[in-house]
Amino acid sequence: MSKRDYYEVLGVSKSASKDEIKKAYRKLSKQYHPDINKAEDAAEKFKEVKEAYEVLSDDQKRSHYDQFGHTDPNQGFGGFGGGGDFGGGFGFEDIFSSIFGGGGRRRDPNAPRQGADLQYTMTLKFEDAVFGKETDIEIPREETCDTCDGSGAKPGTKASTCSHCNGSGQLNVEQNTPFGRIVNRRVCNHCNGTGKSIPHKCSTCSGTGKVKKRKKIHVKIPAGVDDGQQLRVAGQGEPGVNGGPPGDLYVVFQVRGHEFFERDGDDIYCEMPLTFAQAALGDEVEVPTLHGKVKLKIPAGTQTGTKFRLRGKGVQNVRGYGQGDQHIQIRVITPTKLTEKQKQLLREFSDLSGHEAPDEQHDSFFAKVKRAFKGE
Ligand SMILES: [Zn+2]
Ligand SMILES: [Zn+2]
Repeated sequence: MSKRDYYEVLGVSKSASKDEIKKAYRKLSKQYHPDINKAEDAAEKFKEVKEAYEVLSDDQKRSHYDQFGHTDPNQGFGGFGGGGDFGGGFGFEDIFSSIFGGGGRRRDPNAPRQGADLQYTMTLKFEDAVFGKETDIEIPREETCDTCDGSGAKPGTKASTCSHCNGSGQLNVEQNTPFGRIVNRRVCNHCNGTGKSIPHKCSTCSGTGKVKKRKKIHVKIPAGVDDGQQLRVAGQGEPGVNGGPPGDLYVVFQVRGHEFFERDGDDIYCEMPLTFAQAALGDEVEVPTLHGKVKLKIPAGTQTGTKFRLRGKGVQNVRGYGQGDQHIQIRVITPTKLTEKQKQLLREFSDLSGHEAPDEQHDSFFAKVKRAFKGE
């Protein structure tokens, strides 16, 4: 369900040169071009290849992608924000004109076109991102008008071909200039480029053939999603034009932080406080993990900063590549409130051990500090 890695899409390595990327793109775009390739998923693959190339061929976009993956906030994604404010999607309908350098191919206004993609930002609790969850979201999107079935014409009437542009949606405008006569092509202002004339407009959609509705969509969030990752829900974007396929919906996750755990990829990090006595004498402590409490043996003489690893107690990889670990860093807490008795005992302890620590590791550490004071 999740978006494929752009390098994987183009079949190149992460260190591929611009030339290699260009070559791979040329080959794949030819292979999947919907005019050539009649396979059902060709258009989808073609779109994927084009998107990957657009990012990897641009130095700035590429470095951003290398850093942030699919979550580049500057890639022109609209976004709904938390409050459900509709930010609009982005369409791929210009795919043909831009790939062929523009202008080379005239767009037929009556040709089927894929609907625009939509984006929805979802805030997740830390645990929900780790374990996944199923939920319903409501998104505002355009739907085909039921009253006119998308034609835009009042029921019982029909849309006809625009007589000004003969259905092409474009008009030739001739201009005399000092360099000669120039013919410009413009969008037909009588039909706004649709190539259709609707004498009796549908009253529900005012002739657009579409209505804005809030649509409830069931989303299955896989276990292991991380902040900034997105989930593609195929076919849940805006409806297609002239019978084209609908766009896709991209759900982008924002994961909230946790009070105790920190996450880096599939690994979980936490800090475990120990008293001075626990650290010095050793102990068995209970450590919270996302999967329940785990007993951890603390060896005698454990230093602050010591790290322990609990294998498999991290996050399940979202693509199914195993399970992360939980890393625990020990922090020995120096007591701040001591009773008279405790103070007395600590003084005795200090007298017994002198000012030098008893073990070798500490000897060398204290020796280093001494040398540093002497400037050796
Ligand atoms: Zn309508
Ligand atoms: Zn027209």
